[in-house]
Amino acid sequence: MHLSQTPAIESIYATILRRNPGEAEFHQAVREVLGSLGPVLAKRPEFAQAKIIERICEPERQLIFRVPWTDDSGEVHINRGFRMEFNSALGPYKGGLRFHPSVSLGIVKFLGFEQVFKNALTGMPIGGGKGGSDFDPKGRSDAEVMRFCQSFMTELYRHLGEYTDVPAGDIGVGGREIGYLFGQYKRITNRYESGVLTGKGLGWGGAQARTEATGYGTVLFTAEMLRHRGEDLEGRRVSVSGSGNVAIYAIEKAQQLGATVITCSDSTGYVLDEKGIDLDLLKQVKETERGRVSHYAERRGAHAAFVEGASVWAVPTDVALPCATQNELSETDAVALVRNGVKAVAEGANMPTTPEAFRVLEQAGIPFGPGKAANAGGVATSALEMQQNASRDSWTFAHTEERLVEIMKHIHDTCSETAERYGSPGNYVAGANIAGFELVAEAMVAQGLI
Ligand code: NDP
Repeated sequence: MHLSQTPAIESIYATILRRNPGEAEFHQAVREVLGSLGPVLAKRPEFAQAKIIERICEPERQLIFRVPWTDDSGEVHINRGFRMEFNSALGPYKGGLRFHPSVSLGIVKFLGFEQVFKNALTGMPIGGGKGGSDFDPKGRSDAEVMRFCQSFMTELYRHLGEYTDVPAGDIGVGGREIGYLFGQYKRITNRYESGVLTGKGLGWGGAQARTEATGYGTVLFTAEMLRHRGEDLEGRRVSVSGSGNVAIYAIEKAQQLGATVITCSDSTGYVLDEKGIDLDLLKQVKETERGRVSHYAERRGAHAAFVEGASVWAVPTDVALPCATQNELSETDAVALVRNGVKAVAEGANMPTTPEAFRVLEQAGIPFGPGKAANAGGVATSALEMQQNASRDSWTFAHTEERLVEIMKHIHDTCSETAERYGSPGNYVAGANIAGFELVAEAMVAQGLI
């Protein structure tokens, strides 16, 4: 395997493989970043001297803990909790919590690693972290979810703090879960420390536009990529995967910018709605009723079809926005997208595109926004929430969205200019990896060997 034709980097990668056995997603995420760093080491020998790559790939602290809880019938369950405090060179650890049965050490490590570079790209003072549990909230009552969240926080609270580590939501963790987690933190610590969690409710320290920010940001990044090619989203067909927080607000912003969003999905299949997704109905089914996309199709009637167990990327589209989960867009999917004339792809989810799929898109010259840039609007708005909490202030939706627009443009331009500076014009993957790495590496060198 050739990372970047740099033997030093290949040897670092071999050590990472050996020291983190069985963590396939972490290996994939590291390989993708390291593959961009050859030219940086060549230009900046101080990074190699300080062994920044070796240090940046090793989390500062890894927490794994037992989470016992009882269900409504009194049966005892034991889950595993994780928090990966990956890098604090730029600020307190910051990154979401994921509750999903697939959560494992390797998944949390990959997400934490990505988060370090993503957070740097936002230009905000936040380090990188991620956490979660193999708990599955699907089908659980509110009381069960509350007991789980309380047990989870009873261990995690000692590691958190507005200057230490500030979690937020991710898959399976939305406003309900953040509420229960925050309540338990407050009870244990006897402190109303608003800045310890983000994604809070608007009435108790949450920020306007945080719920919308990841999805909105992904579409704003996409619009910026298209604008640089003299195109826009007006009248385009857009395909979105997923139907959770990121997907719903990606659909909303794409519609606001004049696109027709024709798909959404969940882990059972996808909906094709040629007339355009009815967002009110989707929100009703997914956010209010916690239902499935098949229910949306049933209620939408003849307009929409539910296609069970198939890939949403087979549908011809102009713009593809994977917003569900890692490795959901395969090489075969990428071939289909290119064959059907896709014009841009941007990752709302974290690492949804496999390396093989990315190569197909790259060879076809399709503008591609990697997650660490395209979906950074969520964490950036979390940093704005921390800012409001610290100053006991609360901004309007319009003002917060204005900041989000500026931030997404800043991220786009940073990636684009960095790619250009390092001889890969138009390559947002290289631009994001190098720009994020340089920012963190410079801070690490300045802060000494810690
Ligand atoms: P949600 O839990 O709100 O929604 C997740 C969606 O993805 C659901 O529709 C879910 O379907 C679907 N999904 C999950 N696993 C699979 C799978 N294996 N196959 C197909 N569909 C699947 O999560 P979010 O919207 O918050 O997160 C989505 C992605 O965006 C994740 O990769 C997350 O890390 C990333 N992200 C989220 C941010 C945020 O602010 N929330 C910030 C940046 C990135 P089902 O219900 O069937 O499981």
